Order: sequence, then C-alpha cells, then structure tokens
Amino acid sequence: MTAEARLAGAILTIDLDAIAANYRLLTAKVAPAECAAVVKADAYGLGLAFAVPALLAAGVTTFFVAHPGEGITLRALAPEAAIGVLNGLLPGAEADYAEYRLIPVLNQLSEVDRWAAHAGERGGPLPAFLHVDTGMNRLGLDAGELARLAAEPERLSGIVLRAVMSHLACADQTGHPITAAQLAAFRAARARLPAAPASLANSSGIFRGAALHFDLVRPGCALYGINPTPETANPMRQTVRLDGRILQVRTVDSPATVGYGATRIDRLPCRIATIAIGYADGYLRSLGNRGCVVIAGREAPVIGRISMDLMTVDVTDLPEESVHPGAWAEIIGPHLTPDAVAHAAGTIGYEILTALGRRYARRAVGDTARDRA
Ligand SMILES: *Cc1c(COP(=O)(O)O)cnc(C)c1O
Repeated sequence: MTAEARLAGAILTIDLDAIAANYRLLTAKVAPAECAAVVKADAYGLGLAFAVPALLAAGVTTFFVAHPGEGITLRALAPEAAIGVLNGLLPGAEADYAEYRLIPVLNQLSEVDRWAAHAGERGGPLPAFLHVDTGMNRLGLDAGELARLAAEPERLSGIVLRAVMSHLACADQTGHPITAAQLAAFRAARARLPAAPASLANSSGIFRGAALHFDLVRPGCALYGINPTPETANPMRQTVRLDGRILQVRTVDSPATVGYGATRIDRLPCRIATIAIGYADGYLRSLGNRGCVVIAGREAPVIGRISMDLMTVDVTDLPEESVHPGAWAEIIGPHLTPDAVAHAAGTIGYEILTALGRRYARRAVGDTARDRA
C-alpha cells in the first residue's frame, strides 16, 4: 500500500478501461458522426489527468471544457486535440485562446465580432463553434441575433466554423416534445447560416435517435457512467469506486443521540461505525439519515447528520468481524452507483460526481493505467 493510501480516509478508484469502453460504445452508436468528449469540471470530478489519457487512447480528437482555464490545463495533456470552450469567448482573452489554440463556442454576436476582429489582427483565420439557442435561454444566439447574422454573414469572415451547435434541454426524458421542437429550430437555424457541420446531442441525445447525431456529438456524463437513459437499464459501465475508512465502532445500549442536531437513536442496542468522509469530501449533507454504505457486501444506513469530515452508519445488523477500525466501506461502487446515491440525496448523478472531494487518495485501474505505469 502506498503512503498516500495508508494515510487516506478515503480512496477513489477510477476505472480507465470503463471510460474507454464507454467512449467506444458511444462512438459505435453515432458513427459516422464524430464523438467528442466533454471534460468540463475536471472530467466531471474524476480528474483530467486520469480521464484524458484514457480518452485519447480510445481515439478522442475533440474535447469540450467550460472555462478557458480548463482548456489551458487540458492543452498540456492533449497537445494535438481540438479543444472547445463552451462558456464562450471571454472579453479581453482573445489572445489567450489563440495562444493555447482554444476554440471558443461563440455564444453571442459580440463574441463573433471580437473573434473575427482578432483573426483580422493576426492576419489568419481562426476556428470557432457557433452556438444558436433553441430553447435553453442560457447561452447561444437568440432569434434576433441569428436574424442579424443571417443577414450579415460577412461578420463571420476570418472565422472557420468547426460546427454550428445547440444544446438539448430535456433529452434525458424519452420522447419529450421539447426535443422535437429544438431539432426543428436547429434545422431552421442551420438553413439560415453559412454551410457548416452541426452538433446537437449530449449523452442522452445520442440515445434519442440518429436524427439528433448530425456531424459531432458531445457526451459528458455517459463517459463517466451516469445513465443517459434514466427510464431504462444503464448501458454505460461504472467508472468510479469510493471507499471510506472506518475510524471507530461503538455500541450504544441506553437512550442516546448521534451527531450534530442530536438525531435520536430509536433502536437499542445500536452499533455505530464512524467513517472518515463528510460533506467537505462531497458526501452531500442531504444524505444525513437517508444515504447508505455497503460493508462486506451488506448495507448499513447512514444514521445522524453528515459532518464536515465524518459520517456515522448503523452497523447493528452487520457481522461484527467485518466492521472494525481500518476496514473499508463502499460509499460509491457496484452496489451504490452515483445515480443511486443521487437518488437518495434528491439530486442527479452529475452532482455526485462533480462534488467528489479533493482529499481522497486517487488511483487508476485498468489496462490503460498499466500501460502508463
Ligand atoms: C455539459 C454539456 C454537454 C455534455 O452533457 P452531458 O449531459 O453530460 O452529456 C454537452 N454540451 C453542452 C453545451 C454542455 O454544456
């Protein structure tokens, strides 16, 4: 065991083969369209340094991040890849994008104009994605801006459009009418713009019919094992496992309470195990008295509130020999997927993954990891 693992309160294990297999499954599903990889928020909490080499080895050539800073970090890991920046072209940062060969997703006309002007100053064309809004009302050209750009296409001169794109609001729900309306709006918008490749689908969109695939798809969550089709069985492989260390075990045999806010212990005697993971590690506070862990294959419910660094679980029904200081509890893993933990917490798997803490010992498994070692 490495010193990092010996000293850790929790170990996060990232399965690089599962990430690669998920990418290949999506690629096969959308061929001949290209499959990009969305790695914003540090590859959805898994860590760019783990996910990116696995994705490159699996064949990714286009990545998307949210912030330009994420793109600069990614550039060091992927010197040749195309890197799209979803949050757009930040004012005054044009030269930084060009220096690190970041491709802005132009979300409004002012960004189009600044990028075209920067191309003019540099004396050579610059690549971009162009985002038209089709119903999110979050980022992307609105109807008025689209009409102006359609009337004045010369505003795009000096810009090489890698793709016209939009983003789906409800693709996680099968047959949602908004998806069909967004597809129609996207087709209409494309018809008004100079010819360019197109990109619409996120992870869930990939599973809602080939009409959504166009030339480039942009999956994020499915790469990391979140179910893109929540109403049916998960086609993706789990990519993370989180184990938390048991620090102490106690038996309570007279009326008492546990943790902050003094949750009353209803069933006596009660055995309580304290685990070295808390909300500061991304184990959401909403899981207090609601979540559960698995120890030696048996479920143990969370009892009491989640503290910053600690959580307490009821191990009364577990064999005594499996619960002792130094033993490990599965917090996320084969029995407790991020989607299942999210359900207990009243949120979505994306939030469970992107909240994964900074204090874990992180290690990679899989052939991809061995190849690198
Ligand atoms: C985050 C994001 C994606 C990836 O979405 P998933 O649901 O994680 O697949 C794709 N496109 C845009 C614009 C995004 O913001």
